[in-house]
Amino acid sequence: MIIGCMSAGKSSELIRRVERARLAYLPTAIFRPAVDTRSKPDHVESRNGLASQAIVVDQAKEMLKYSSQAVVIGIDESQFFGDDIVEVILTLLRQRKKIIASGLDLDYRGKPFGVVPHLLALADRVDKLLAVCKKCGSDFACRTQRLVQGTEQVLVGDSEYEARCIDCFEPPSEFQMRIDLQSTNVSEPALVNFAPPSNFSTAV
Ligand SMILES: [Zn+2]
Repeated sequence: MIIGCMSAGKSSELIRRVERARLAYLPTAIFRPAVDTRSKPDHVESRNGLASQAIVVDQAKEMLKYSSQAVVIGIDESQFFGDDIVEVILTLLRQRKKIIASGLDLDYRGKPFGVVPHLLALADRVDKLLAVCKKCGSDFACRTQRLVQGTEQVLVGDSEYEARCIDCFEPPSEFQMRIDLQSTNVSEPALVNFAPPSNFSTAV
């Protein structure tokens, strides 16, 4: 499993590992869920421009249908699949296929995301990738900060989120409170004269 927050390089790492197998002439297949509408059809794309052909499926069980020839199987955005992906992956493993799955381990609230914790427990190798914090610049971003209102767990988009370290991450309730304060005090001069505290530090 390849996990981490957004902008950590999960999809490009998934593509890299599947391409490695292709170079050795192993038959491969990459799947991604239809709910992720950011990549162009029939492709999996990383935010740094890497792309590979992918089979888009609505439900995990469709992977069984399209993977009979594949020896190495990549699954992108695995957090968007339902619990039935566990049985599908166990079936593929019994067929002696190698599975490489990527996904968000935590949702925008900082809580474990859907079926991913279950997949982590089954995995024989887990790589947790970190991003650069968009707020303080540290190398240890492990949370996905949602920048818009909304309580649904799945809200697909890139501009609505940013990678944050655990110190800069604001859980939805705190983030919402700050947005509300800003919108009500927008004409207050006190906000304009903001002075950072003496121990204020910029990017590490
Ligand atoms: Zn930070």
